[in-house]
Amino acid sequence: MFGKTKQPDNTSHWIRHEHILRSDHYECARCHVKKDRPTNACPNCGAVMKSTKSDPQWVDELEMFDAILGD
Ligand SMILES: [Zn+2]
Repeated sequence: MFGKTKQPDNTSHWIRHEHILRSDHYECARCHVKKDRPTNACPNCGAVMKSTKSDPQWVDELEMFDAILGD
């Protein structure tokens, strides 16, 4: 029903949250557990990680700095 593009549901990917003032961390896109570094499989839900996608939160943090510096 999903054709040839259907993936096994034991796979997922990391969402990399990037920060300016602290180190990046990684969130499982399947169970949303957060880790300091990516692994080949999620230690919480066991999903096999196929990729890492960035979620650059520093963009919001930069805007926050602008608001502080512009005060
Ligand atoms: Zn997980």
